[in-house]
Amino acid sequence: MQELIELLSEFLNGDERFQLYFKPVQNYGGTSAKDLPLYDPKESFKVMSEVQKRAHCYFPTSTELLSSLDPMGSVCYAGLPNSFAIGADGTIYKCTLELDEPLNQLGKIRGDGTFDIDEDKLTLWITADAKDDRQCNSCILKPTCQGMHCPLIRIKEQRSPCPPLKKGIRTALELVTVYAGIDIKND
Ligand code: SF4
Repeated sequence: MQELIELLSEFLNGDERFQLYFKPVQNYGGTSAKDLPLYDPKESFKVMSEVQKRAHCYFPTSTELLSSLDPMGSVCYAGLPNSFAIGADGTIYKCTLELDEPLNQLGKIRGDGTFDIDEDKLTLWITADAKDDRQCNSCILKPTCQGMHCPLIRIKEQRSPCPPLKKGIRTALELVTVYAGIDIKND
C-alpha cells in the first residue's frame, strides 16, 4: 500500500482535487464471497485507518470519513423522501443496489415526468428510522445514522442497520485526531 500511495502521489503531483480513501473489501453475499479471506469489520477499520494515516502524509485530508460523522452523514439516500433512482425503463427505485427487490420497485415515471408510485411502499422507506428503536435511541451514532444506514435491512429484517463505522468508531475518532493534527496523548 505504501508503494501504491507513493505511486499515486507522484502521478497526481500535488493536485489538490484528489483525495485518497480506502475501503475494506467486504462480503456482500453470493456463493464465492464466503471463501474470501476478509477482515472482520472491527479489524478492517483498524487496517483502513493505518493505510489512511499513511495517505494523509501525501494527500489532502479525505472528507469521506469526516462527512460520515456529520449530522445525518451516515443516513442512506434511499431513506430520504426526495431521493429516487429512475431505471432505463422508467421504473422508480429507492435503493440503487437491490433492483430485483419488489419492495424497491415503487412505480413508473409517466411520459410527462410525474410519478405513478405506490405510496405504501414509499412510506416503508422513509419511515424506516430510529423513532421506535430502543437500541438506536441510546446509541452514540444516532445523530449521524438516525437508524437509517440501510432502510432495506430495517424493512426486511426489522433490526437496527448499524454501519461498519459503529464497530470502528474508536479507530475512526483516532484518525480524525490525526487529520486535525491533535496529539491525544498530550491533550
Ligand atoms: S449505529 Fe446502529 S444502533 Fe446506532 S443509530 Fe445507527 S442503526 Fe441505530
